[in-house]
Parts: sequence; C-alpha cells; structure tokens
Amino acid sequence: MARLNHHYRKLTAGYLFPEIERRMKAFQKDNPGTQIHRLGIGNTTEPLTPGVARGLEEGVKRLAAAETYTGYGDEQGLTELREALSRYYESLGAKIDPGEIFISDGAKPDAGNIQSIFSADSVIAFQDPAYPVYVDSNVIAGRSGSYDGERDNYSGFLYMPCREESGFIPAPPAQKADLIYLCSPNNPTGAVAGHRQLREFIDYARRHKAVIIFDAAYAEFITDPGLPRTIFEIEGARECAIEINSFSKFAGFTGVRLGWSVVPKTLVVEGGEPAEVHRCWLRRQTTFFNGASNIAQRGGLAVLSPEGLRECRELIGYYMENSRIIKRGLQELGLTVYGGENAPYLWLKTPGGLTSWEFFDRLLQEAHVVGTPGSGFGPSGEGYFRLSAFGHRADIEKAMESIANRLIL
Ligand SMILES: *Cc1c(COP(=O)(O)O)cnc(C)c1O
Repeated sequence: MARLNHHYRKLTAGYLFPEIERRMKAFQKDNPGTQIHRLGIGNTTEPLTPGVARGLEEGVKRLAAAETYTGYGDEQGLTELREALSRYYESLGAKIDPGEIFISDGAKPDAGNIQSIFSADSVIAFQDPAYPVYVDSNVIAGRSGSYDGERDNYSGFLYMPCREESGFIPAPPAQKADLIYLCSPNNPTGAVAGHRQLREFIDYARRHKAVIIFDAAYAEFITDPGLPRTIFEIEGARECAIEINSFSKFAGFTGVRLGWSVVPKTLVVEGGEPAEVHRCWLRRQTTFFNGASNIAQRGGLAVLSPEGLRECRELIGYYMENSRIIKRGLQELGLTVYGGENAPYLWLKTPGGLTSWEFFDRLLQEAHVVGTPGSGFGPSGEGYFRLSAFGHRADIEKAMESIANRLIL
C-alpha cells in the first residue's frame, strides 16, 4: 500500500497567501467597485531591460540554427556563465572559482534542495521570521518534531529571533546547530547583516563545524557600500558557507527562472574529505536536475555584461525609489518602519499594539491596501507587517495616497 510522506501533514505554511486572498475577496464582495491596492507582493513587475531581452533572444536564435544548436548542456551550467559569475564575485571582493558555481533554475529550488545532502539528524537553526522554504524543506525531510500551534513553531528546530533592538539581525544560537540558514538582505524584514555580524556566524560555524546556508537573493539591492554583498567577502566563509543566489530580483527573472549556488571546494564537514560537500552537491544535481535552460543562461550572461549590469542596477534603482516613497509616506504618518534601504522590503511595526492580522484587516478595510502580516513568516514576526517595493510607480503612489487619506491612526 502506498503511503504519503507523512511529514507533509505537519506543514503550516501555505496558509498565509490563501488567507490573504480569502480576506481580499470577502472585502471585494462587500465593497464592490472599491479599488484594492497591493503592496504585498514579492514579485517583480517591470519589463526586462533591452540588453537582457536581446541576450534571451540570442539564446533562442542559437537554438534555431543548425551551427549553434545545443541540447543538454553541462549540468553545472554554461562555462561562460560560471566564468562571468566568478568575475562578478571578484568585483565584490571574493575569490570564487567557476568550478565552485552551480547554475540552477532558481534560488528557491536550491534553498529547498540543499538540505538533502546533509545528515537526516542535523540540528537546524533558522532566522525568525524567515522566507518559508528553509523551514518547510526541513519539515518535509523529517528533521522537525510536531508543529506547536500555541507557540507557532516546530519542536526540534532552533529559532533565532530577529528583534527590533538588534536591528532584526539575530545572534548565533546558544545551542549547537549543524546547519544555519541566513538570508541577507532579508525577506521579510529588509535587514542586512554587517561584516561583524556575519563574522560572528562564521566564528560560530567554525567552532561547531556547522554549515551556513546563505541566501543572497537581494544582494544587488544593497546601496550602502559598507555592507557585504556576499558572505565570501568575509574571511573564513569558504570553510563553512554555501551561498545561494538568483537572477530573479537582480534582473526581473522571476518568471524566466535562473539562479546559482556557490559550494566552495574548501568547505569541509565533520568526518568529510576535502571537497566532498562540493562533490555531493554535484552528484545531487546531476542525479535530479538536468541543467538550467540554455536560453535563460544566455539571458544571465547578458545580465552580467557591463551593459546588463548598468541596466539591471537602474531597474533596481526604480524599485528602491518606490521603497523610499513608501517609507517616507509611512513615517510622515508617525509609523515606525524598518528596512527598505538596502532591500525592497519594509518592515512596519503595527501601531497601537495591533497583531499582524488585525493591522492587515484595518489597512484593508480603511485604506483598501493589502500587505503581508509579519506573523506569517514566523512567531517573531507577530506585531509587524511586510510591505514590498515591487510595483508600478503609479500604483505605489495611489496606495500611499490612500493610506495617508484613509488609515485611521
Ligand atoms: C524571491 C526570493 C528568492 C528567489 O527565488 P527564485 O527561485 O530564484 O525565484 C530566493 N530567496 C528569497 C529570500 C526570495 O525572497
């Protein structure tokens, strides 16, 4: 008799976005003709830049000509693209060999799959709040105990609370963890870890022989030159960290699908041989994955060209201007807002001690604006609310006008 992987039954996430939809639809039904403004999406909205679009077209043209047609490529990714990424890391001050880079169909799949190369009894530490895939993939793999509705957490996992007084950057766990997931710039808080804070985690990882899984999907949104854009800027990271990254937010590739991971050959785990983690990830990818789209990879090459980088950084500048508009607007109303300066997310402290969902309802009922309740990202997100800077400028301005005119504070 076939039976399901019963760990799936423990999952709670997936509740957040359907519940937002449900409340939105109910509001629309009771208030027909009222325009709802969305400030909650974690998805890009602006078209591809011209140089990047040409790169993708070039990819199609190559497939359409007998002389340049290619079928399956190198499973680890197009050599040219891995070399371009290696140069990109060099420009950030990190030395990464093209052989240490694995091209993928996105950071979310890599973030979900990476746990599979580590021991089933690994102890896992997460930032709280966090992007849900880190927790969920480890629940599915059976590393958690049951979900505790009262505490809104899973037994067996280590949660690293991200608190207001420490700028939403957590301290390493007090206990011994084997795998630590970090995301900086962070979704949902918009907080960015500085050199000193990353150094603490690297010291912890080296002391405990732990591995850091570092999600840098928003690295290109960092405007402050003093903040690290890759964990490999920090000494010692090559011994204990894997970095996951993506063209999704960098170049508006959320629907194109292209990402990469860096697994250094110098990364060693307890009882492991040199470069064994690297070999194991290669084995995992060649077994379960046949390589990223060759069209998308041509697009990725265009992103990393001088013209592509200029265009994509300009596009990021557009979203960051949205972010400034939202932040300024909310602050003028006397609200407390974090993030939004080196990340496309703003982390609003709900006024008057409202819960995240109470504030969601108020914002929807009064201002007709939809955002994302912070509690949906983990227990420490309670009392906070995520707003996103992705959107067309005119829509962002309308949403902010509606908040300024209608929200009762
Ligand atoms: C959007 C996002 C990603 C990107 O995932 P892709 O699969 O590359 O689209 C990764 N990590 C975080 C935290 C994100 O918000």
